[in-house]
Amino acid sequence: MASLLYSQVVKMTLLEEHIKEREKELKELKEYEKELKECEKELYSKECVIQSINFVVDEASKKVPGLKEYEKFSCYLATILAREKQVVVVWLRILLDSCEIHLSKNFAWLDYDLKYIDKIMKYLKDISNNAPAKLSNVENAFTETVMLYCSAKLESRLKKLKDYIKNNSNNEHVKSFKDFFLTNINYTDSMTMISYVCNLYYKEVKDKQNKSNKSKIPLEFLEYIKKVGSYAGSMSGIIDCARNIQFKQLFFNVKVFKRSPVIINNQSIYSWKNIIRRFIDEEKYKEFMDKCLNKTKVMERMRKVYTDNTTQQQQLLNDDDVKQCIYLHAEMNILTYIIDNKINGRTFIAVSKKCCYLCELYINFARDQGYNIIVTGNHKKVYSGWKLPNVKDSNFKIRSLRYILKSLDQIIGKKLEHYTRSLPAVLNSNENSLNPNNSNENMDTYYKNTDKKIKKFSLF
Ligand SMILES: [Zn+2]
Repeated sequence: MASLLYSQVVKMTLLEEHIKEREKELKELKEYEKELKECEKELYSKECVIQSINFVVDEASKKVPGLKEYEKFSCYLATILAREKQVVVVWLRILLDSCEIHLSKNFAWLDYDLKYIDKIMKYLKDISNNAPAKLSNVENAFTETVMLYCSAKLESRLKKLKDYIKNNSNNEHVKSFKDFFLTNINYTDSMTMISYVCNLYYKEVKDKQNKSNKSKIPLEFLEYIKKVGSYAGSMSGIIDCARNIQFKQLFFNVKVFKRSPVIINNQSIYSWKNIIRRFIDEEKYKEFMDKCLNKTKVMERMRKVYTDNTTQQQQLLNDDDVKQCIYLHAEMNILTYIIDNKINGRTFIAVSKKCCYLCELYINFARDQGYNIIVTGNHKKVYSGWKLPNVKDSNFKIRSLRYILKSLDQIIGKKLEHYTRSLPAVLNSNENSLNPNNSNENMDTYYKNTDKKIKKFSLF
């Protein structure tokens, strides 16, 4: 009897201990979730302050990684899939006898986009099926489809180049480009042909630079040329890949996955004053605000950042209920999939625009955790509304959050310390810098044929 009672007591104690253990775990989980929520709110609040006072954190990186052939193909695809102001991300996953194309963008996929992607994939399969024989009619249809889809973005890039040419018409580099242009083109008002000639010109300049390492052509001008030329370069690059018999199997078994955008419209954030007062006292805050009032760019950005998307009203700088729209950047959307599926091998993510500073920080953190992520470049700008990826591994999530917050704290702290210094001007955005190095064989014939439906443009 006594031993039975004893075993009952032991059981009861074990049960009590188990309940206590569970309670402790639940408490820890709640605390952890609270920390996560709090840190996320802090992150979204600090992004707003930094975009206003230190939009460009550092100089844009000029490093371009060495890419494999199929990785270049991802870049070309990202270029021709991005229309208007959209950012498109392409990740090509090569499997044993097939390939997956993962796509993501910062806007919803419309029917118009889906039909376009289907058409492009069909053309690629057809070209690849017939390789090494050329399917001129399909290649022609491909270039026409691409040009129709991308013409608005190409036109806006052409306008920027035209403005530059107009403002620098007496400079030697502009004159020399004009000579090259007129020697190599018959249809001077065809957008596709202008893109083609710009691509030729850019490659020639780069070749010369590689040989002698000297060029008097300003980088800004070359960037305009490169962006205009990127369409012709990407189209011929894609056709070259599809015609390559090595990739036959991959194109034959290609599957396309489109990831949906993630947007949160009403994220609660701390006010401007709340965040800044965490770094400086009230007296210094007043001084800092006086300085800000004299900085037009800061005030402009601040107004933009704290304006409510739905009401279009500017929210008070000391309000305790500020709302912000946040969304997952397209490259982070793909990266979430890679992390959730623990894909550790070399992973190249092609982005139609260079990555922002927060994406760069997150990628750096992922690299530290063993993910071999490669991107084409960073522009070091901080955008408010950047959403933290919601990866399944909660430990990864909280540690990445702490890593990013540490960096943001340093930026704000440093900026406030030197708040009397003038703030950097807004730099030009640096879109995809990849220059295709391909044959352009037959392409000029296609470009001449594509122009019937596409708007005319006069560069000079
Ligand atoms: Zn980004």
